[in-house]
Amino acid sequence: MIQDLENKRKDLLPILMGLKKAKPWRGSKQKRYFKYARTLHQLSEVMGVRSVLVYYPWLPHQGVCLRFKGGRGIVVIRRFSVITFLHEFAHLFSSNELEVRNWSASMFSQVWPRQFSKLIWDPVSGDYLSQAAYLKVFRSRYLHLCAFLNRVQDFKKS
Ligand SMILES: [Zn+2]
Repeated sequence: MIQDLENKRKDLLPILMGLKKAKPWRGSKQKRYFKYARTLHQLSEVMGVRSVLVYYPWLPHQGVCLRFKGGRGIVVIRRFSVITFLHEFAHLFSSNELEVRNWSASMFSQVWPRQFSKLIWDPVSGDYLSQAAYLKVFRSRYLHLCAFLNRVQDFKKS
């Protein structure tokens, strides 16, 4: 239940402030891994679950969360993104996509208000994206649309 996370909000926020202080976007991949892994450990401790962080850059999705019996889980991320990390962590408690998105976005906005204000909300996926990421998906959708329209044109001609 996402309510379990809401109930512990006051205890979870200082841990994220700690991650902010540790500068989650800085350092080698190994260093960043340890910053996120330590944060996950602390968040899990507050929530009374046991989870491990796996960094897997070949993942086809942004992240995945595996839940097991007895409050154990594995959080897998493709890259070191705080929102993705929070999103997959929240999936330890809820499989409701909307709830999980709202929770991760609200936690991120509270701890990183300046970075959050720069994000763009993508109505297609419902995700908050950086400008660069948004341009990338926009471009690929645009190219798909162009390819589709070209096919329609060819079809009309034939
Ligand atoms: Zn999700």
